[in-house]
Amino acid sequence: MEVTSIQNGVIIDHVSAGQSLTVLEYLKIDPADTRLALIMNTTSHRFGSKDIIKIETERRLDLDVLGFVAPQATVDIVHGGVIVDKVKPGLPNRLINVINCKNPRCVTTTEPGIDQLFHLSHREPAEYRCDYCDEKAKI
Ligand SMILES: [Zn+2]
Repeated sequence: MEVTSIQNGVIIDHVSAGQSLTVLEYLKIDPADTRLALIMNTTSHRFGSKDIIKIETERRLDLDVLGFVAPQATVDIVHGGVIVDKVKPGLPNRLINVINCKNPRCVTTTEPGIDQLFHLSHREPAEYRCDYCDEKAKI
């Protein structure tokens, strides 16, 4: 795989096959105004098949969000066409304004403008619950 296809940005590898568009959505990356390359359903020794996302950006990505939506992913930080760092995002303990509580009686539903706060309540499989009402997040 050619590393130098992006100059400055990130390569997100080991994304579950077919998940790359969801990952972009959670990272708030608009494919319409961002230089990026998606390699979908390529072969992986570890997972059978996977997606790879290459994003040309100067922005720092929210790795907590990435850990939530693609916890098995690995991230290469690219600078000047060279990989300068490798990051392995894990499941974040907290999610702030990433997902919304679906409980109609939750204070976040009845009072707009309140931060959506979730915490990791179970690791395997990953489960998040609302800080206010303990509703399980539907991911
Ligand atoms: Zn709630």
